[in-house]
Amino acid sequence: MIRRDFHTHTTYCDGRSTAEEMVQAAIVRGMDCIGFSGHALTTFDTEWCMSPEGMQAYAAEISCLKDRYAGRIRILCGAEWDFYSDGPEDGIEYKIGSVHYIEKNGVRTNIDESPEQLKRLCQEWFDGDFYALAESYYANVGAVLDRTGADIIGHFDLVTKFNEGHALFDETHPRYRAAWQQAADRLLTYGKPFEINTGAMSRGWRTAPYPSAEIMEYISARGGCFILSSDSHSTDILLYGFEEWEKYCREHGYVLLDSLPGIRDK
Ligand SMILES: [Zn+2]
Ligand SMILES: [Zn+2]
Repeated sequence: MIRRDFHTHTTYCDGRSTAEEMVQAAIVRGMDCIGFSGHALTTFDTEWCMSPEGMQAYAAEISCLKDRYAGRIRILCGAEWDFYSDGPEDGIEYKIGSVHYIEKNGVRTNIDESPEQLKRLCQEWFDGDFYALAESYYANVGAVLDRTGADIIGHFDLVTKFNEGHALFDETHPRYRAAWQQAADRLLTYGKPFEINTGAMSRGWRTAPYPSAEIMEYISARGGCFILSSDSHSTDILLYGFEEWEKYCREHGYVLLDSLPGIRDK
């Protein structure tokens, strides 16, 4: 069973647990590796990301924790690199490339705050056309590895965060499918893993992880691979849903990585 989690947040960004609390919880859960992925700086919206000084302090503390817990757990210092992040990269061993914002006329707005905010944004920017919003989102997603040089593709279909039961739009609509397929086709050429991210499940927004079953199937059929991640913002949801979704991947014959290519986390 996979007991490694590479997508975790701490009090250095918008997490509720300290880095050391996360490490201790990981040890209690029998994990042999934990990767931290604090939100890298987005200068136009500093509410939930790390400041430049914060990123340095974060990398320094994780370096200390590696020494303090050596022999008990392997610790990696990564970052969740937004499409629009531009923070310092010192000490960062891997990146999760994620899209949280779309841009119009030079204004960037996040799409994962609340259903109300997303509906308002859709009305104001796209005349209520959710497919146009999704097209704008997936245009960024398709370019996220080009832009960030990331090692993992973060929550591919975050735009569906509030779409449980197709509450906002129809995920089988041809325009929606065309938008995500174009992004997936572009990302598949890199051979990097797509996250199976249970974060919105643990927060009660979804009953299944990102990406949707249809998208997972599409990615796998074209040779793509996956990596499980909890997107934990506190100690209690490390490895959330991993057992169930690891089983799901095995049953469907999906390739599931338990380490990051290029990083010595064996
Ligand atoms: Zn994210
Ligand atoms: Zn995250």
